[in-house]
Amino acid sequence: MDARELLGIARVERHKAYCPYSNYQVGAAVLSESGEVFGGCNIENCNYGGSVCAERVAILKCISTGARKIKKLAVVIEEGRQAKPCGFCRQVMAEFATPDFELILAWDNEEYIVLTLDEILPFAFKPDDLEM
Ligand code: ZN
Repeated sequence: MDARELLGIARVERHKAYCPYSNYQVGAAVLSESGEVFGGCNIENCNYGGSVCAERVAILKCISTGARKIKKLAVVIEEGRQAKPCGFCRQVMAEFATPDFELILAWDNEEYIVLTLDEILPFAFKPDDLEM
């Protein structure tokens, strides 16, 4: 599964977004370590604190199947705008990312960037920080 294929799935997921308050549609797609793909969209709530980002929906769908590692995560918003995951989602990525994890952020149908976990969350607090 290459970046463009994963971005294509994220684009389909984006149209499923439930965002009546912001009208800000986000789509995401996760590739698990075992090669399965899970999509996600943002889901808002009238109590704004209950809203969940597309990235976390996709990651949690993956992890809820019993998987524990994600290799890639693609994120798209509207064409011509750069997707940028929030800090909360970056921390969740740090929990489950493989060492070679790739975050793929679309600009439009043709352009995207690929970032590592260290690039998006330097000096991250990770599970091994809790080991005594
Ligand atoms: Zn987020």
